[in-house]
Amino acid sequence: MSKNKKYVMVYAIDRCVDCKACMVACKAQWEVPEDHFRTHIDEKYSPDRYTPNRKYFLPSQCNHCDEAPCVSVCPTKASHKREDGIVYVDRDICIGCKYCIVSCPYDARFFNEEVGVAEKCTFCLPWIQQGHQPACATTCLSNTRIFGDINDPNSEVSKVLAEAKRNKNKIWKLREDLGTEPNIYYVQS
Ligand code: SF4
Ligand code: SF4
Repeated sequence: MSKNKKYVMVYAIDRCVDCKACMVACKAQWEVPEDHFRTHIDEKYSPDRYTPNRKYFLPSQCNHCDEAPCVSVCPTKASHKREDGIVYVDRDICIGCKYCIVSCPYDARFFNEEVGVAEKCTFCLPWIQQGHQPACATTCLSNTRIFGDINDPNSEVSKVLAEAKRNKNKIWKLREDLGTEPNIYYVQS
């Protein structure tokens, strides 16, 4: 029996050049309000004591967590986890209480004042349902952002993760200690 799709994103962070095209593409595609973005790029410095000043760029967005606090606190079930792994906000039943915004340990949500609802990355759900890639992945010229179904061994995400394991590259997710089971993978050589 075939498994459900499970959408994830892999960031090959050695490739990110901080051009921020992903942030702009996402904002334009979904008419994100002026003061907000659904994805960010942060400048970081290596904690490795042998290369302490090595700068790298860390993309982030909603982690589409398997154990998502934003879903468990939502009183109306507007925030919910779909069978394909996407954590989604149903705007029709969001009452704008902001509990989810406060509960997210990744600061991945914001309040959209224009429509009065909580907002965040959706992996571009309406687009991927039509067979497209998310706007950020399509726009990323360095192919840092790789999106797909981790339950399909032939998907690009599965192949990139398998190759990173073979090469003994570093693979991690943000704040796994919190038990949220995030679904954004970071790969670094
Ligand atoms: Fe919810 Fe935050 Fe996890 Fe996204 S990153 S699913 S908003 S807890
Ligand atoms: Fe749910 Fe909306 Fe309240 Fe967030 S702001 S907890 S999505 S009802």
